[in-house]
Amino acid sequence: MYPPVFKYIDSEDDMEKNDIYQITIEDMSEDGSGIGHIDGMAVFVKDTVVGDTADIRIVKVKKSYAYGRLEKIIDESPFRTEAVCPVARQCGGCTLQHISYEKELELKQNKVMGCLKRIGGIDEPEKYLEGTYGNESYLRYRNKMQFPVGKNKDGKTVLGFYAGRTHSLIPVDDCHIGHKVNRYIAEAVCSWADSFGITVYDEKTGKGLLRHVLTRIGFATGELMVCLVINGKKIPHDLELLEKLKAAVEQYNSALNDEGNEKADIRISLNSVVANINTAKTNKILGDKTFVISGEEYITDHIGDVKFRISAQSFYQVNPAQTGKLYGKALEFADLSGEETVWDMYCGIGTISLFLAGKAKKVFGVEIVPQAILDAKKNAEINGIENAVFYTGAAEDVVGEIYEKGAEGSSVDVVVVDPPRKGCDEKLLSTIKGMNPKRMVYVSCDPATLARDLKTLIAEGFELEKVAIYDQFSRSFHVETVVLLSHE
Ligand code: SAH
Repeated sequence: MYPPVFKYIDSEDDMEKNDIYQITIEDMSEDGSGIGHIDGMAVFVKDTVVGDTADIRIVKVKKSYAYGRLEKIIDESPFRTEAVCPVARQCGGCTLQHISYEKELELKQNKVMGCLKRIGGIDEPEKYLEGTYGNESYLRYRNKMQFPVGKNKDGKTVLGFYAGRTHSLIPVDDCHIGHKVNRYIAEAVCSWADSFGITVYDEKTGKGLLRHVLTRIGFATGELMVCLVINGKKIPHDLELLEKLKAAVEQYNSALNDEGNEKADIRISLNSVVANINTAKTNKILGDKTFVISGEEYITDHIGDVKFRISAQSFYQVNPAQTGKLYGKALEFADLSGEETVWDMYCGIGTISLFLAGKAKKVFGVEIVPQAILDAKKNAEINGIENAVFYTGAAEDVVGEIYEKGAEGSSVDVVVVDPPRKGCDEKLLSTIKGMNPKRMVYVSCDPATLARDLKTLIAEGFELEKVAIYDQFSRSFHVETVVLLSHE
């Protein structure tokens, strides 16, 4: 949702349903609607693009904003572009496919700057901006896909994505931000399910076996994981599934020469076929237990010189090309000489920790998902890194306890945080302040919560030094930001 900064319109000018207005679209919302203003009131209009001037019809009036429908384009935006995906409009994934990539980067930069200003109370945030880094290939960049499973009109099994804000499944044959091998995998799973009468999970009744198909690819290694999320304890006809998957990968590899592979011109190897058990009535995709059907329970990938082992349940950045650059920036901001004690909070499988370890005296990592910490420890081992220590638990509890006890790690030179969208826990921010780091690097996937946390940190004596924006999630409105703060 676009942050509500809208004024109320005067009552005598109140707009009503079916009124027609001519407006210019000035911005885009998260769901890809254009946003214009009528007497200061924001109007969201689907199918418009920033830069369009259009006649619109009001379809719904809320207290401080309204929705309009496009009637006629009067002056077409120079930023319009043809979406590459045939279901781009229905699918809730890519919301910006109909806009040029340059404009997308500008919108993302504006979004970050707007949040820092409005929510973070930072005057002239542009002063701190050292760069907005676009994605070299803004299609085919994702290494992970999570397809919900459903049935089409003819009763055939399909994979797809949910339409925006709903759970109605839009079948997708070939998602253009994902790897091309996914199409082959999807076909294999669906034809296997149809051949053996494998049932599909129904959210309403809680019945049916197959919930999601998750794929993960090491872009540097070509290793592929296929994970079937099931509402049950075992998969019938798993050997037949395996045969189909192997054939699909083989077919993909032999098509490589004819078709080319836009992302990584390497052969794919099916290293891991696993099932994840999720029997709960929940929107959460994965359950707590995963078992191996064939191969390993992980795949391996590397970013820069560091090798990572990744399990189905562990978080791993979805855009490895940009991630390497982003971690490089975090390392540059951390400015390590080899003598520092560093914390990597919300460390996942230890990606940032291990990136920093080579340049630091000691690195402490903390992460809430136990499987991720097992991966982090293993990752340290396979990279021969001995100066990294990992803790399982909520960062706010684990770090809080270490700090209160004055245990090793309670005094620190550099703190790196990389929280999920909801941002950092307040308790953690105050513990960090007490730990008195010289520098703090904040990696954020949500500029609104980043700005909120920066406001707290700045009020507590931290100083904002630099902001860098990385486009990790091209064609969607999500954006990643790296911030450097200093502390006397
Ligand atoms: N730095 C890692 C992971 C960042 S994603 C990387 O770049 O790969 C955020 C991580 O925070 C996820 O792994 C998530 O499991 C973890 N997490 C969420 N809440 C947490 C909490 N309260 N304490 C510690 N980790 C948490």
